[in-house]
Amino acid sequence: MQPGVITLGGFLGTDKRDFTQIIADDEKTLEKCGKTAEEIAERLEYFQQQSFDAFESNTIVDNKYKVETEVVRGYLPCPFNHQGIYRKSYTTVTNLQSGKSFTFSALNIHLIRAHHFFEGKKSHFRLEPDEVIKELF
Ligand SMILES: [Zn+2]
Repeated sequence: MQPGVITLGGFLGTDKRDFTQIIADDEKTLEKCGKTAEEIAERLEYFQQQSFDAFESNTIVDNKYKVETEVVRGYLPCPFNHQGIYRKSYTTVTNLQSGKSFTFSALNIHLIRAHHFFEGKKSHFRLEPDEVIKELF
């Protein structure tokens, strides 16, 4: 076992599926919804950037979303043995019409963009691709 593989376990939650299966299943959902992982990563990054740029802690984006980012000291490495490290920043986006909210880190954006990985069921930062598409686009 490589160290990266062990670290990856922390992103699987209670999911019994292998991470390659999780990725394959989410790809199917994305295909059904007509969006790509890259488009979702772009969208999440857009919200994150809006709150980085804002002066208030609560930012309203596009008159429809409340965005808040909490930055914690330290960095997170990519569990897929990449070189990159990511700021520990946690962005929460709330759709003001539905009240639904999503929290994701800078690392989540990378995992989605580079690895098409939305994490396992019940893992702390699991994002359901179909819910994100429904609520945040
Ligand atoms: Zn990576």
